[in-house]
Amino acid sequence: MPIDATLPYDESNIFARILRGEIPSRKVYEDAFALAFHDISPQAPTHILVIPKGPYVSWDDFSERASDAEIAGFVRAVGKIARDAGLVAPGYRLLANVGADSGQEVPHLHVHLFGGRRLGPMLAR
Ligand code: AMP
Repeated sequence: MPIDATLPYDESNIFARILRGEIPSRKVYEDAFALAFHDISPQAPTHILVIPKGPYVSWDDFSERASDAEIAGFVRAVGKIARDAGLVAPGYRLLANVGADSGQEVPHLHVHLFGGRRLGPMLAR
């Protein structure tokens, strides 16, 4: 079920539980601002999720409430993860779903990083 991105942050969401170490993930990267792990149901040869460490529901919430340091740290982490995965030369795609129309399912901001093949049209038709 897609989420309502206007609701307050829910500490019981699955990515909050991954951040707290309550459930496992296949970790790719971690620093003070971001955690990255492989998507459990990959839609491309590389499908990594990058999440901020702070409690933000969506890109909207993050862009409004996060500090400049959190935003800079998160954006730099996404770029580093893509570079470290060797995706700059072949190319890659970033995607962040926000709310019902996008189909966002987990109410903790996550940026999908896709790569490893030609990714096709930007949107499903
Ligand atoms: P979205 O539809 O943008 O909210 O994407 C949620 C993503 O989280 C989907 O691609 C799921 O496959 C992925 N996902 C859900 N649970 C887990 C989990 N425990 N570990 C890794 N990825 C997950």
